[in-house]
Amino acid sequence: MTERLRIALQKKGRLAENSFNLLRKCGLNFTVRGGGLLARVKNMPIDLLLVRDDDIPSFVANNAADIGIVGENVLVEEQLVSNVELDANIIMRLGFSKCKLCLASPDGKSFESIKSLKNTRIATTYPGVLRKFLFKEDIKATLVEMKGAVELAPSIGIADSICDLVSSGATLEANGLKVFKTILDSEAVLIQSNRSLTPKKELLLKKVLRRIDGVIKSAETKYVMLNAPREKVDKITELLPGSDSPTIVPLAGSDNLVALQAVCTEKILWENLEDLKSLGARAILVLPIEKMMS
Ligand code: ATP
Ligand code: ZN
Repeated sequence: MTERLRIALQKKGRLAENSFNLLRKCGLNFTVRGGGLLARVKNMPIDLLLVRDDDIPSFVANNAADIGIVGENVLVEEQLVSNVELDANIIMRLGFSKCKLCLASPDGKSFESIKSLKNTRIATTYPGVLRKFLFKEDIKATLVEMKGAVELAPSIGIADSICDLVSSGATLEANGLKVFKTILDSEAVLIQSNRSLTPKKELLLKKVLRRIDGVIKSAETKYVMLNAPREKVDKITELLPGSDSPTIVPLAGSDNLVALQAVCTEKILWENLEDLKSLGARAILVLPIEKMMS
């Protein structure tokens, strides 16, 4: 019987679609059905274990899955509230489902100094992370532990502030809450235990990790095409640190201008855009890259 690599993923929720998309871009072919706990990858010896995100760290630690995709916030929380140390470590950051665990209150101002949280009530679904933060800041406060709908706690009078996940801040704003402190930055991460895998699984895992790495890199990287004065090519190249040296092509009918093509991260491109223009870069085209194989 062929051994199958098992990947734990959130079944439904904010991480699920992003995780499925990532694996599909890596060439894994699978169908997720409503009730199923396991989805079989048709073209590779891989099974997907579809569960609640909170269970993913312990499933990886206890050998129910070989690797898993989970929010860093959940991994940190589960480590803090678990009775035993969970054997689950981050092996790759995935760059999606970014969010922050924040403190917020109806009037963010009254808590501008963290110390004024003393002796107040804070509602949260993240007691582990919050308790650690309060301990570090030497603040004694009452934790109101909830299973969800934390943003409603102040308005129904059971807490003075909340500690909850925020991405755009729109949900908090809609509930009249203002963020006054971030206590954890989070994104989706790939986790694995320290257990060794059989050589076959290890090979397969390496292959999957290489593909994931390629997909993530290509998401952050763009292919840039621009026209530039020939004498400025060196300076422009310095502003576009890419995989290799850029391609320089002469432009028909122009002795002075050349077309330059390079690979560059989107972040650097935005940072250097004005400088590129002032060096004479024109007709700047930015194209997505489907995949980067190295
Ligand atoms: P489950 O039913 O699997 O337990 P859940 O309700 O705990 O799901 P979701 O709301 O689906 O979890 O969020 C899953 C993860 O998505 C979070 O743990 C977090 O890492 C990430 N996330 C990104 N943005 C947000 C956001 N605005 N609010 C909540 N989580 C977010
Ligand atoms: Zn959850």
